[in-house]
Amino acid sequence: AKNHDRVQAMVFSEEMYRKASSRLDLESQLVRVLEKNELRVYYQPIVEVSTENVVSFEALVRWVHGERGLISPLDFIPIAEEIGMIIPIGEWVLRQALEQVKQWRAEITGVENLSISVNLSALQLQDPDFVGVVADALSASGVDPVALHLEVTETMLMSDVDVAVETLHALRALGVSLSIDDFGTGHAALGYLRSLPVQTIKIDRSFVDGLNRGDPKATSIVDAIVSLARALDLDVIAEGVETTGQLAELRQMGARLAQGYLWSRPLPPDQVPSWLNEKRR
Ligand code: C2E
Ligand code: CA
Ligand code: CA
Ligand code: CA
Repeated sequence: AKNHDRVQAMVFSEEMYRKASSRLDLESQLVRVLEKNELRVYYQPIVEVSTENVVSFEALVRWVHGERGLISPLDFIPIAEEIGMIIPIGEWVLRQALEQVKQWRAEITGVENLSISVNLSALQLQDPDFVGVVADALSASGVDPVALHLEVTETMLMSDVDVAVETLHALRALGVSLSIDDFGTGHAALGYLRSLPVQTIKIDRSFVDGLNRGDPKATSIVDAIVSLARALDLDVIAEGVETTGQLAELRQMGARLAQGYLWSRPLPPDQVPSWLNEKRR
């Protein structure tokens, strides 16, 4: 038994070692990810529930890693946040997304009013330079500030509330609009919706998932969020819509916008024009 324990302990520590060193690799490689031009922004359409017309795209970052292939943001954004790289990465994604939407608005007919959503990190909301960066990126691209939506989560507002709220007001003053991402999954009290300069709430996929699957509680929650949004005069986007059944339920509830694999996975930018044209036919 002793021997067995020792072998187990050894296996365990080797496993730990592998994990720790792979994480150190990622950390040191992340520092150089922008110089090496290894990040890509993918775009997922956001459609109007009633017409299924595309009104916007959400920018979602990926890392094209030399040995590991495409790395999900879920696997590197937390590391980028810990080592501070999320600040330059976030700025890069923002500038990239604005240039992209400017190009599509100019070159593709029928999407002259297309808007773009960009995800923020809590650290960006705490960064005193961030509002200036957004202002500069907007004027550099020439994109109308109303076409830029910045997504924040409830949890992100908790760290230093005063600074975060001040940043949100300053961003709003630039004319951009603000969305609460993953709505319903954080621990914020609902009262904040009254005082924050927020225009849109995005219903988290975990609730949308239960629609049309005989989950009456999930259905009630989505319905309640849609009603809440309506009462507070907020726009609403249902995330993670995968089936026509879910779409039908959302339509019945009067949710205005939706996003999910039912229309498209996040696409590399070069596939967007043909996807839009295909859809229009
Ligand atoms: P999120 O902002 O909640 O983005 C939605 C995620 O759900 C995306 O995953 C998207 O691909 C996925 N998704 C969309 N529709 C469906 C669907 O119908 N079914 C399923 N199963 N999934 C769907 P992705 O691209 O892996 O991004 C994961 C998270 O990484 C994002 O969650 C966001 O929190 C973060 N992220 C992505 N890009 C950025 C960025 O540029 N900056 C920051 N700070 N975070 C980012
Ligand atoms: Ca988002
Ligand atoms: Ca989300
Ligand atoms: Ca999420």
